[in-house]
Amino acid sequence: MLGLAQGCFDYTIPYIKEREQFGKRIFDFQGRQHQVAHMATQLEAARLLTYNAARLLEAGRPFIKESSMAKYYASEIAGLITGKCIEWMGGVGYTKNYPVEKHFQDVKIGTIYEGTSNIQLNTIPKRIDSEY
Ligand SMILES: Cc1cc2nc3c(=O)[nH]c(=O)nc-3n(C[C@H](O)[C@H](O)[C@H](O)COP(=O)(O)OP(=O)(O)OC[C@H]3O[C@@H](n4cnc5c(N)ncnc54)[C@H](O)[C@@H]3O)c2cc1C
Repeated sequence: MLGLAQGCFDYTIPYIKEREQFGKRIFDFQGRQHQVAHMATQLEAARLLTYNAARLLEAGRPFIKESSMAKYYASEIAGLITGKCIEWMGGVGYTKNYPVEKHFQDVKIGTIYEGTSNIQLNTIPKRIDSEY
């Protein structure tokens, strides 16, 4: 899900840097830049959660809570980011002429398989309960 979100983001940013409306690049509107910053921050947070869970696993340390957090967060923000990418590209983002529509469609499964988001939200507090 992290890779899907990153791929969608990587495709969309160059497009909105090139596309102009009202005499400016779409990327240059401050409201757009705030959204880009918000999504980029969540993407980075998901990456760090994922890498941290992998690091704990490789170190032979407990990792169930951290991997649940990573799976939950990465899946949820991947849905947000791919949805935003479609909005940022406007009408063409919704068409099959560009890959972001496919990213958006494919990303939904992330909140369902390999433990739904609801089940991750059951797992995390169980681990917290046993830690304290
Ligand atoms: C494309 C695809 C590929 C898949 N690949 C595999 C695979 O390779 N191997 C495999 O084993 N499975 C696979 N699955 C199955 C997948 O893991 C299940 O769909 C998933 O675990 C959810 O189970 P379910 O569909 O029976 O939903 P249900 O268990 O019926 O759940 C429906 C909804 O209720 C929620 N819910 C259920 N129980 C609780 C609870 N206790 N608390 C809160 N909410 C709850 C769920 O989160 C979900 O939102 C795949 C599914 C899809 C769609």
